[in-house]
Amino acid sequence: MYNIAVAGTGYVGLVAGVCFAEVGHQVTCVDIDEKKVSLMKSGVSPIYEADLEELMQKNYVAGKIDYTTDYKSAYKDADAIFIGVGTPEQTDGSANLSYIATVARQISETIEKDCLVVVKSTVPVGTNDKVEQFIHDFLVNDVKVEVASNPEFLAQGSAVHDTLHAERIIIGTESKWAEELLMNIYDPFNLPIVSVNRRSAEMTKYASNDFLALKISYMNDIANLCELVGADVQEVAKGMSFDERIGSKFLNAGIGFGGSCFPKDTKALDYIARQNGYELRTVKAAIDVNKDQKTLLYKKASKRLITFNGLKVAVLGLTFKPGTDDLREAASLENVPLLLEHGANIYAYDPAGTENFAKVHPEGKDSKGSITYVSNVEQALNGANVCFIFTEWGEIKATNPEIFKELMRTPLVYDGRNIYRVEDMQKAGVEYHSIGRKPAI
Ligand code: NAD
Repeated sequence: MYNIAVAGTGYVGLVAGVCFAEVGHQVTCVDIDEKKVSLMKSGVSPIYEADLEELMQKNYVAGKIDYTTDYKSAYKDADAIFIGVGTPEQTDGSANLSYIATVARQISETIEKDCLVVVKSTVPVGTNDKVEQFIHDFLVNDVKVEVASNPEFLAQGSAVHDTLHAERIIIGTESKWAEELLMNIYDPFNLPIVSVNRRSAEMTKYASNDFLALKISYMNDIANLCELVGADVQEVAKGMSFDERIGSKFLNAGIGFGGSCFPKDTKALDYIARQNGYELRTVKAAIDVNKDQKTLLYKKASKRLITFNGLKVAVLGLTFKPGTDDLREAASLENVPLLLEHGANIYAYDPAGTENFAKVHPEGKDSKGSITYVSNVEQALNGANVCFIFTEWGEIKATNPEIFKELMRTPLVYDGRNIYRVEDMQKAGVEYHSIGRKPAI
């Protein structure tokens, strides 16, 4: 059992902290956000993730995990400090490392015993060398401190499961001491560990995420061509999926990738390449395709309708994917403002993202239109002139095609997630437009 501190209680830090506690370590989670800390102390998760709250409560009661804003007390006698603070995108595409630097400085000023600092945040290759140097430069006490890379591969929506049953754990270290300590910390998880050097670990994270982003953009590119040549992208994907070299996952065409990782990590790797005098053409293509894909349905609908002005528009799904309340880079954030600017009266439904979306677009008049949040699909569809589906939540997928016909004033649906079979919508009398498939008219 190790004494572990975790800096940052977002999707990565909190889930890591709770899972470390669950396998038997003693954990203190640190955040600068006092509101978050008091919420967590009262057993409430500040983020929406399956099983998270239950594990937080169980381990808090068992005394295995605590939450604090007092980083000094958490860091001073930790065996390992995991950093999970944000590395958001800056305007030039590079990663903002200021949160990492703040934590590094806090660590150097507070640790009182030998300690391994483990960077879980996604950082440009070479960052951990700099973090180690930075900590040594400001170190107050005479202790041994090293930095290891341990990039995180969890997917939001299944973060706890992905951590406890990870396909692999990547550890990047520069000494036997660091490698052994990190291996021991992960030993109770009983999962495959890939031990590499620090820079390879940092690069593996970007290479993996950008490959997945590329796969999505490739399928979206193929989908757009399918529409033009009369092929069906779902049939094409099915045929492709039997080839083990391709695999069956990430072949769904849609309105592009969002979230806090793929958009930021593609731009960051493109930036790293440019800094090194190299043009990463494949990743650049993934970024370009994604940019256009996000508003594809809006553009299609704009051609079909004379105006959105005064129309009742049902929006189903606001989050960037199901199973999360996260809106970062969600398609809704690009399309809703466009609809509002053109006078649409939006009725939006999302099982978990409404509260966050209302912080950006409060209920009521907005631009030339308005937005109202409703608590189920039926309320959104009732009397609507057009419907946009942005997220494939189970609650939305459960809506029968007949419901659109029954409740909407004009059953006109733009589905960014290819939820329905075209034939079923056709049979139900719904005009249906999706991605990479013929429309039902
Ligand atoms: P997040 O924004 O949800 O959480 C970051 C947290 O760090 C916030 O709660 C913030 O208050 C806290 N924080 C900021 N400064 C701090 C400090 N000095 N001390 C303690 N806490 C501090 O971020 P996230 O989505 O968990 O992502 C964190 C990192 O992990 C990023 O680099 C991201 O790219 C990477 N990552 C994210 C995911 C994901 O699915 N979200 C997956 C893999 C990797």
